[in-house]
Amino acid sequence: MTQHIALVTGASSGIGKATAQLLAKNGFYVFAMARRMDRLEQIRSENIEPICLDVTDTVAIQKTVDHAITTKGRIDVLVNNAGYGQLGAVECVSMEAAHQQFEVNVFGYARFMQAVLPQMRTQNSGCIINIASILGKTSIPGFGWYAASKHAVEALSETLRGEVIKFGINVIVIAPGLIKTEFAAKEFELLKTVKHPPAYQKLLNALPRLLAGEPQAPGPEIIAQAVLKAATASSPPTRHALPLDAKTAVIAKWFLGSRIFDWAVRQKMKI
Ligand code: NDP
Repeated sequence: MTQHIALVTGASSGIGKATAQLLAKNGFYVFAMARRMDRLEQIRSENIEPICLDVTDTVAIQKTVDHAITTKGRIDVLVNNAGYGQLGAVECVSMEAAHQQFEVNVFGYARFMQAVLPQMRTQNSGCIINIASILGKTSIPGFGWYAASKHAVEALSETLRGEVIKFGINVIVIAPGLIKTEFAAKEFELLKTVKHPPAYQKLLNALPRLLAGEPQAPGPEIIAQAVLKAATASSPPTRHALPLDAKTAVIAKWFLGSRIFDWAVRQKMKI
C-alpha cells in the first residue's frame, strides 16, 4: 500500500508536534518543520523527517515541497499550523509587529498552499488542513492583530475550498479554543514589547486573567486527533471547532448579537 505523505508546520512544539507524532504513528511519512532544529531532532524517527524552515521564507518552502515530491512522489496532507499571537491594543501594536503577525500566520499558510497545490492538482487528490482559532470567527480586546490574522485564514480557506474541490482537494479548518502549549507564554513575552499608555492599564490587567485557565486547558493531543480524523476521513467536515468553548463562543455571538456579546466580553474582562 502507498504510504501517505504529510507536511506539518510548527512541529517543534504544541499542536504541530503532537500532530506530527500522531500522523507518523498512524502510518504517515511526515515532513516536520519549524525553526528550532534541536527541538525537531527530538521527534526524528523512521516516519518523521525534520526540516529547519521559517514559514516567511518562500524559497525554503518551495525547496522543501520539491524535496518531498522528489523523494516521496506525492503530497497527501498539508497541515498549516505554525503561528503565534501578537497581543496588545490595536492602537499600540506597531505596524512592523502587525505585518510580522500576518507574514507568519497568514502568508506563511498561503505560501505553503501555493507550493503544494500544483502537485495536489496533478494527483487529483489532497487535503489542506489550516489551524485557525476560536478568534477566527470572533474577537476580544487585546487580541486584534492575532484575530485579524485568523479571520484571514478562515476567509482564504473558505475561498480555496470552492476553487479546488473539483480537483479532488479538501480544505479543512480546525479552530482550537484554549489549548495548553507554549503559545500563551510566548504571547505574554510579545505583549511586553508593546508600549501602552496608562489608559490601557485595565486591559493589560485583564489579559493574564483571561488566560489563567491555560494550565487546566486540554493538551494539544485533542487537536492532533481532530487533524488525524480530518486527514483520513473520506468526507471530513469543512470546519471543526474544539474543545467546547471554541464552539460556544461562535454560537453565543450569533445568538446574542454583536452589541450584547461585546458587552458580555467587557464585563468578563472587567475593562
Ligand atoms: P506553540 O507556540 O507551542 O507552537 C507554535 C509553533 O509554530 C512552534 O513549533 C514554532 O516553532 C512554530 N513557528 C512560529 N513561528 C514560526 C516561523 N516563523 N516559521 C516556522 N515555524 C514557526 O503554539 P501552539 O501549538 O499552541 O500553536 C499552533 C497553532 O495553533 C497556531 O497557529 C496557533 O495560532 C493555533 N492556536 C493555538 C491555541 C492555543 O490555545 N494554544 C488556540 C487557538 C489556535 P519554532 O519557534 O521552532 O519555529
